[in-house]
Amino acid sequence: MNKNDIKKNFYIIIGCGNLGANLALTFSEQGEDVVIIDKNKEAFNKLGSNFGGLTLEGDATNIAFLGTAGIEKAGVVITVTNNDNINIMVAQIAKEMFNNKRIVARLYDSDRDSVYKEFGIDTICPEVLSAREINRLLKQEK
Ligand code: AMP
Repeated sequence: MNKNDIKKNFYIIIGCGNLGANLALTFSEQGEDVVIIDKNKEAFNKLGSNFGGLTLEGDATNIAFLGTAGIEKAGVVITVTNNDNINIMVAQIAKEMFNNKRIVARLYDSDRDSVYKEFGIDTICPEVLSAREINRLLKQEK
């Protein structure tokens, strides 16, 4: 794949839970091209009728399916299923097999955070972010 084929504003989001749906709506409203994937099609109900992107039902651990979704052209891949192992596995597939450069994975287990940063995968941990934000709010009040 020629690097010119990669579309910076093409976002693939894996997992249409509350976070995934929120991200999909936000990026779509910002004018990005969004594809959101979930293995359960009911999950797409969270998007509402104004969602301007594409929904794809399927298992993101299936490499052929990710290929069909056009992952090799994605400028950004975000993995936010409810399973750390799946998020990391799909992030690694995106990096190693499809050569995606901008990858963000949600991890509930903050202990694994630093390991994946070394692989070039950015991770976010909701508990760490929440603790930081609560701390900030409380400090602000003083
Ligand atoms: P939440 O529990 O709100 O974080 O939502 C996580 C979403 O990830 C759910 O809608 C799941 O159906 C979805 N999900 C979990 N595993 C996979 C998978 N292997 N492929 C695609 N979607 C998945």
